[in-house]
Amino acid sequence: MPGSGMSPCAACKLLRRRCAKDCVFAPYFPPDEPQKFANVHKVFGASNVNKMLQDLPVEARGDAVSSMVYEADARVRDPVYGCVGAISSLQQQVAHLQTQLAVANAEIVCIRMHQSQSVPNQQQHQHQQQHMEDGNPLITSNSPPLTPSSPNLNQHMKSSVGGYESLEISEHLWSQN
Ligand SMILES: [Zn+2]
Repeated sequence: MPGSGMSPCAACKLLRRRCAKDCVFAPYFPPDEPQKFANVHKVFGASNVNKMLQDLPVEARGDAVSSMVYEADARVRDPVYGCVGAISSLQQQVAHLQTQLAVANAEIVCIRMHQSQSVPNQQQHQHQQQHMEDGNPLITSNSPPLTPSSPNLNQHMKSSVGGYESLEISEHLWSQN
């Protein structure tokens, strides 16, 4: 049991004092993790940590110790920025990823617009090639199913043979994007 056995808690060991039965550090700083208290002591000071823990209800002290240990470790690793360095770096990552997400969403919108415009055009192109090969625009055995539904498209195709070259140009433009 920490604080009640032969070996003092990590805090009392470092502070070279007797570890009392009601030692406020003992539940959170076991003797087998000396570095945990060493950093907290270096950054916050043992008496400040003692006071902070005494001011808290017992059920909140574990979380308080965890956050102090995290902050102290970060401050030891990065004496200038401490855990603010980690927070700032993560905020930059979040901003960068939000930008990437916005770009990706914009690309999705563009691709969907291109698809909704170019899929019927390609279909029409196939129909017209078929028309030129066998002279029958309605026999398209190797064509995939039409989307949107084919009647309107066929209707449109019959009246747009003259637009063939401009369709080819627009497909060329899409494929360059
Ligand atoms: Zn102790």
